[in-house]
This record gives sequence, C-alpha cells and structure tokens, in this order.
Amino acid sequence: MTEPVSNLKGVGKETAEQLASLGVHTIEDLIWMFPYRHEDFTLKNLAETPHNEKVTIEARVESVPAVTFMGKKSRLTVTVLAGRHLVKVVMFNQHYLKQKLVPGAIITVSGKWDRGRQVVAGSSIKFGPKQDQGDFEPVYSLRNTIHLNRFRKLMRQALDEAGHCISETLPASMREQYKLLPMQEALEGVHFPKDTEHVKQARRRFVFEELLVFQLRIQALRKARRDSEKGLSINYDLVKLRDFIAMLPYELTGAQKRVVNEICKDLKTAHRMNRLLQGDVGSGKTVVAAIGLYAAVTAGYQGALMAPTEILAEQHAENLYAWFEPMGVRVALLSGSTKTKARRDILERLANGEIDILIGTHALIQPGVAFKNLGFVITDEQHRFGVEQRRILRDKGENPDVLFMTATPIPRTLAITAFGEMDVSIIDELPAGRKQIETHWMKHEQLGAVLTKMEAELKAGRQAYVICPLIEESDKLDVQNAVEVYEQLTTYFLGRFKVGLMHGRLSADEKDLVMRAFSEGELNILVSTTVVEVGVNVPNATFMLIYDAERFGLAQLHQLRGRVGRGEHQSYCVLLADPKTDEGKERMMSMTETNDGFRLAEKDLELRGPGDFFGKKQSGLPEFKMADLVHDYRALDIARQDAVRLIESEEFWRADEYESLRQMLERSGVLEGERID
Ligand code: ADP
Ligand code: MG
Repeated sequence: MTEPVSNLKGVGKETAEQLASLGVHTIEDLIWMFPYRHEDFTLKNLAETPHNEKVTIEARVESVPAVTFMGKKSRLTVTVLAGRHLVKVVMFNQHYLKQKLVPGAIITVSGKWDRGRQVVAGSSIKFGPKQDQGDFEPVYSLRNTIHLNRFRKLMRQALDEAGHCISETLPASMREQYKLLPMQEALEGVHFPKDTEHVKQARRRFVFEELLVFQLRIQALRKARRDSEKGLSINYDLVKLRDFIAMLPYELTGAQKRVVNEICKDLKTAHRMNRLLQGDVGSGKTVVAAIGLYAAVTAGYQGALMAPTEILAEQHAENLYAWFEPMGVRVALLSGSTKTKARRDILERLANGEIDILIGTHALIQPGVAFKNLGFVITDEQHRFGVEQRRILRDKGENPDVLFMTATPIPRTLAITAFGEMDVSIIDELPAGRKQIETHWMKHEQLGAVLTKMEAELKAGRQAYVICPLIEESDKLDVQNAVEVYEQLTTYFLGRFKVGLMHGRLSADEKDLVMRAFSEGELNILVSTTVVEVGVNVPNATFMLIYDAERFGLAQLHQLRGRVGRGEHQSYCVLLADPKTDEGKERMMSMTETNDGFRLAEKDLELRGPGDFFGKKQSGLPEFKMADLVHDYRALDIARQDAVRLIESEEFWRADEYESLRQMLERSGVLEGERID
C-alpha cells in the first residue's frame, strides 16, 4: 500500500514529479485523491430541463456556423437539431470549431440551457454521438499538472491493482444500520461512478466516515479531559435556589429553565464544567448566570463573573446587587477604575471569603486577585477574551466549573464542530411579549426620509444610534466614515439635538465618557463604529441607522440591531444599503424578515459558507475532504451522537469491528492527551 506511484505502469520520472506536486506519492495517496465534484454528462431531454441547468445533448448541425469577433474575443453560433428541438448553440472563443461544424455532422454538446432564448451556452463540444461510458466525469483539482484522461487511466490501474488492499473502516453493523456502501464500492463510486445514485451513495459513505472520525476524535479528547481533571462537586441547596427563582419578577422561559438545569447538573457532578451558553441578545442570560452563581454560593463557594467592558461589568453588578443584597449574598465590583483603597479592601475580603460573588473586567485576572475558594467562573461575551485570559481566571480556583456566555448565535453544526469539546447550552427563546424591531432596507438616496423618521423618535424623547463601518475616509472603499457622518448630523440637527461620536481610536476612558453621556440621555444621537456592538443597554434608544449595511455580515447586523428594542417602546432599524450582489440583497432581505438570531446565523452560514462565518481571524474549523457543514448537518448530528455513545461504551474500545476506527484515533494523536482548549 505504501508502494510508490512509480510502480504503476507508464509512470516515469516526469509523471511521478507531477503527481508529487499534488501531494500524491504512493498508490494509496492516489486512491485517496478525491474529485471535488462530478460533471454530469448524461443526455438530457431539453423539454424537461429547467432554465439555467446544465445539459448534455446529442444533436445534428443544421446551419453553417456564424462567427463574430469582439476584440480578441469571439462568438460562434450554430443551429442544431436535438431530438425535435431546433436550438442554437453558442460557443465563446472557439471560432476554430467552425470548419468542423459542417451541416449534417453529429455532435455532443454540454453547456447551460437558456430556456427563454432556446440557446445552449456550450462549454464543450465533442464530435460524434454520445459515447456509452463516461456519464459522470469526476473533476479533480489537477492544477494544470497532468492531463485528466491520463490521470483517470492511472486511477483505474491503481484501483484495479491496489483497491482491494484498502481495508474497511466502518463496522459492518454501522454500514448496515445506515445503508452505507462498503469501502471498495464507495471508492469505485467516487472515481468511476455508474450513475448519479452511485456518486451519491459513495459520497454519503465518506461524508459519514469523515464526520464520525472527526467527532470520535473530539469526544475522545473530551473524555480524556474529564477523566484526568477532577472537578468540584458543588452540592448546592436546591430549596434556596427554588426560592430565589420564585422571587424573580418574571417566570423563566422554557429555554432558561432547561439551560439552568443543564448548568446545575454540571455543577453537581464531579467533572469540571466546560460549557458554552449561547443566547441571542435579550434572551435573558444574565439571570441564568445569576442563578448559577447563587447555586455555587449556597454550597459555600465563591463565584466570579467577568465582562469585557466596564459598562457591562457595571450593568451586571447593578442587576446582581439588586437580586442578592436582600438575600445576604455579598457582591462586589472590581474594575480598572476601582480606587486603590476600595480595591485593597475588596481583595482582602475576597481572600477571607467575605465576598461571595466578584464581578469585574480584566481586573479580575490580575495578579493579587486571590479567592478563598472559587467554585464557579463565568465569562460574558467569551469571544472578547483570549484563551490565555480565560485560563488565568480559571486558574484562580482549583478546577472551578467554567461557563462561557455568548450572544453570537452560532449555527448548531458550527457550534458542535468548532466548540465540539465543550458542552453547548442554547437559549433559543425570547421572553414573551417582546416587541419585534421593525427593520427597513433603504437606499442611500432615501437618507432624507430616514432622518425625518429618526427626528420623530428624538422628538418623542427617544434616542438613536447611527453606525458606520469605518472611521477613516478611504477613497477605494468609498465608505461613509463615522467622523464625516458625525459632522453632517451635528450640522443637520444643530440647536435641536446633541450628537456624540464613538470609534475605536478613542481611549477606553474617552469611550466610557461618551457611552455614559449617551446612556444618561445627555446625548440624543450616538454616531459610532461597531465598537458599540457588545452588550450595551440603553433602553431609551429606539432607533438604529446603519450606513453601508451591505458591508456587514448578518451576524454582526443582528448584534448591532440588538442595541435597540430593549425598552418598552417600539424600536426601528434602518439598513442603508445599495448591495451589488444577489447575496448582498438576500442578506438585507433576511434582516427585514426576521428578528431571530439563530435563523439569521443559519442563513449567514448558507450564504457565506463556514469559512467566513467566524470572520477571518480564526475559524477553529477543520478542513473536510468531502463533508460540507452547510449541507451535511444531519450526518454531523448523527455522527456526533454515535461518537458520544461509542467513546463511552466498552465495546468500542474492545470489539474487533472498531479496530480500524481506533487505529485512526491513535494515529491522530488524541489518545496521548493532546488538548484543544
Ligand atoms: P442577554 O441575554 O442579552 O444578556 P439580559 O439578561 O440582559 O439578556 O435580559 C434582557 C432583559 O430581559 C432584561 O431586562 C431581563 O430582566 C429580561 N428578562 C430575562 N428573563 C426574562 C423572563 N423570563 N421573562 C421576562 N423578562 C426577562
Ligand atoms: Mg448579556
């Protein structure tokens, strides 16, 4: 199996080098070089082919081709008879075909069918009738190295000589259960499919296998971590917890109850909690966090809540004081602006165990901050903190339970892939009675009307956000910049309303000042870049205007929109956008159609693909050979469930039929304690 490709007949030095440049060194490498798609060359009946679909037709040339030139480009048009259809075939830049296309000749044309104009925009013409074989041609990424026909001959040879040596990886029971093709048939289906069904089934098998191995890997890691790390077993006081929940001014939503249960269960068991809590803006994560922290306190532990900005930390502190003061739970706030003396006092009481819950910013992870017995740590807006910062906070206790909260809805497939080693809790339900934010998509030229609407809100005593994508003028990008918009609006509303400006170039203190002025109502309008995105709560703000909205992804637009609609008044969001692409238009439409962050996240994934979903920085997503996280989500779910079950079962670690899968895990290094976190 490790035989070099040069052992294949007809592979000399040159071919071997070409193959090596594609990463193919052995015959097995060759077999595992999968096509990225299959071209369908089965003959189609034009009458039954929908507009814009690819077709292959067999036809007779009926006219002398006409050729026109446009500069270096050429266009050849010829009338052909396909079955009973007289249609035109158009070929670009292949005028040399004219000589061969004599009336009466039989040709096979592949291309795109334009039903309205009865034209096939041809991509290839073969002379003569359609051959029997080759209905499905695999398309490999050969990067102009080796010719496709030759590559396919080598593949045929490789499969004939060595295909049978490739052993089955999936246990028979699983193949049976899901009706998956055996290895050899599947390989045949990938490289030399008999028909569409064969391609489909081959793909199905390898997608499942790939996702299963991936999930086994993650689950093995998770198990290794659980086994090696002893966590705390936090025996909270259920009665007290119930009393606290009963005392809240509202009933928890079904989703909040479910998530509280998941968290409490983790607290109680002895393994360390490593959980991600996702919930759309306004879904009520704060109270869930408070319940979790309180649970730890009733068991005699301390809790910590870390937020990315001072304002957020303060908001959390306010909420928690209000809930906990009456119950005798001692809460403190520690941030960069805590005065030296107060800080010293807090640190002392923290170390003595006289503070039960500490809330704060990065100040929490500085040296000198020592807890007596930290049992439960929560970080809000987890993506704003680095791995290292989260680790330092965790290390302030002895294996405390850890909960990460995020308001960025992540589609489930991505969540269980990128954060697969974590447990994921989702609050997918908003408290009842929330008003939907009315969202409109307008062209930039309609700005006048938009400002009139905004003014009506301001006159009613409400406030407005105006968001711009970049802070500096950039000719190339032609983006409205915050400074310019700020100046325009200041002039426009002069003597009537006050405008503030916030952007990333301001220092943390300056940002804080502006934000405070806005939240206290001294400013009526806040012009800002996206720095305002995270968690800020100004319930009186009811109007959000987003310039150049097409430049934002759906997830971000949704986050921004979440800044309004937080009070009792009806709120509005206007997207100023002139998108050029269909995808851009679809994004704007989606925003006007739904307020549901998870649905928007799914849509974003569908439109932009998994790679772009998390932005350019780090996706944390593995590269799959066959599987596709957008379309294969069902397979992913099943693979995950099976992986969870297998890793926990004894059978998996013992039975012969899992031998190959175990070997694959071993080879990937998981079993030697590699860690993702
Ligand atoms: P987020 O998940 O964005 O952090 P918050 O925790 O700030 O959301 O909650 C948003 C608002 O919803 C708060 O004013 C909170 O008091 C309220 N809230 C939370 N849970 C409920 C509920 N079950 N019923 C009614 N209102 C709720
Ligand atoms: Mg929050």
